[in-house]
Amino acid sequence: MELPKGRVSPNFQRSEFDCKDGTPAPREYDSHLARLAAVLELGRARLGGRPMIIVSGYRTPTYNAGFRNGVLNPAKAGAKNSYHLRALAADVDVPGVHPDEVADAFEALEREGAVKGIAVIRYDDFTHVDVRGYSMRKDERSAKRAA
Ligand SMILES: [Zn+2]
Repeated sequence: MELPKGRVSPNFQRSEFDCKDGTPAPREYDSHLARLAAVLELGRARLGGRPMIIVSGYRTPTYNAGFRNGVLNPAKAGAKNSYHLRALAADVDVPGVHPDEVADAFEALEREGAVKGIAVIRYDDFTHVDVRGYSMRKDERSAKRAA
């Protein structure tokens, strides 16, 4: 597939996955980004093609440890072996669509066999999706629903 420069998939720019400290994902993770974006594209299409915002994509080890502008704030630290560190994960938000519905869409894709080996973690304001290679579900919402 021929993509315009700077794109990792038809609707996602590589820069959208940059760490929030401005660091782009290392080039060695290009194949990870491609895999991730391919899954996000399917979710995006399933939700009607609305814009999908990458709230957090790649994270540098420093950023993931909780450093912000050189100051360590452990409260901001991500999971120790976070898939964000290898550009395999994205926290996404689709404006106008409830995060529960976003998570439902990705779960449905795997249930129906369109994708395999993804993790979907539900949060109050966004949905974590990663392409770790095996299926995983987790609910981190503050007010969890009865499953
Ligand atoms: Zn995440």
